[in-house]
Amino acid sequence: MNRVAVGIPGALFCMLFLVGACAMGCIHQEPHNDSRLNVAVTVLPQAEIAREIGGERVCVTVVVPPGVEPHTYEPATSQLLELSRSDMYLRIGPGLLPFEDNLLERVRELNPKIQIVDTSAGVLLIHGDDPWAGDDSVDPDHHGTDPHIWLAPSNLRIMAANIEAGLSMADPSHREEYARGKDSYLAKVNTTDAAIKAMFSEMEGRSFIVYHPAWGYFAREYNLEQVAVEDGGTEPGIRHLTTLVEFAREKGLMVVFADPQHSTRESGVIAEEINGAVVLLDPLAPDVLENIRDVAAEIARSYRSASRGVAP
Ligand SMILES: [Zn+2]
Repeated sequence: MNRVAVGIPGALFCMLFLVGACAMGCIHQEPHNDSRLNVAVTVLPQAEIAREIGGERVCVTVVVPPGVEPHTYEPATSQLLELSRSDMYLRIGPGLLPFEDNLLERVRELNPKIQIVDTSAGVLLIHGDDPWAGDDSVDPDHHGTDPHIWLAPSNLRIMAANIEAGLSMADPSHREEYARGKDSYLAKVNTTDAAIKAMFSEMEGRSFIVYHPAWGYFAREYNLEQVAVEDGGTEPGIRHLTTLVEFAREKGLMVVFADPQHSTRESGVIAEEINGAVVLLDPLAPDVLENIRDVAAEIARSYRSASRGVAP
């Protein structure tokens, strides 16, 4: 595993996907003879935070491969065995993704010594009946609680602190490096947050329509309202679509936001009815800070274009 990581030219860290990594020869089969911490995370966006804080000290493995829907993900047994050889698992949080709960139960059985860090500890979670959850769309896939905690700066600050604490506990001799990593990451979070606040300065309280309600924390952070096309975690019926078309017309919205993990069919139907457009936002993009800044820019742009009466 040392060899694999060092062999990537210019790589200051190693980040591996379990599925992809196995094609190159299963990375965790070799004994861990280097000093790095083998850290597993559930989804891609968590990897950036772990990498920013752990730097060269961590080797990050992502459980859900790129382009795969995490709500319905089922890890293979081979993946489970590899995961159980990790030193640490940075989980999104208990009760947020059913598959993560099940997976960790099995990982713990295989490796009772694995250090499991709840990165959501201290985050004010959004539950299905909260106003930020996305209209009346309580998603059973979300267990009633929104798992997309990484999509808001104030949550990222909490997650960073939890990750730093976990790494420092597992590897106290490098705790100063982890503290420095966290500080420089927080500075980037603050810069992004300030840039987004500036973009939304005159748009408080406005609504946006999105297929899968992944942006509840983002909406709460910037005082926006997320309205979901997905109806209770399932494809919407004609009645829900009609309501959304009326809502969009009433609010003067011209964009329906969708994501790469779900079908854009229904979003397209609404967009057509309102002479608008479908714009993709990816809640699972690996570069979290850049992504939420781009997302903010897209949402702000949709409001500007709506005020001119043309789709972007
Ligand atoms: Zn989701």
